[in-house]
Amino acid sequence: MKCRMCGFEFDENRLENRGCASCGKHSNCNLIHCPECGFANSPQLDQEFDFIIKLKDKFGRKSKS
Ligand SMILES: [Zn+2]
Ligand SMILES: [Zn+2]
Repeated sequence: MKCRMCGFEFDENRLENRGCASCGKHSNCNLIHCPECGFANSPQLDQEFDFIIKLKDKFGRKSKS
């Protein structure tokens, strides 16, 4: 995946504890930490973005037509 903060690309599946070693929430942290800057990326954000974009698209079309 690509870090949203610094743009660094990394393989989240190869990160130990999802890069969580420094965040201290090992057991219930669902975020993937960038090995470069430590930013906590949400693995579900892409799906949410798609959903929001589709919603906006709907609204946009409605207001235009
Ligand atoms: Zn974490
Ligand atoms: Zn980063």
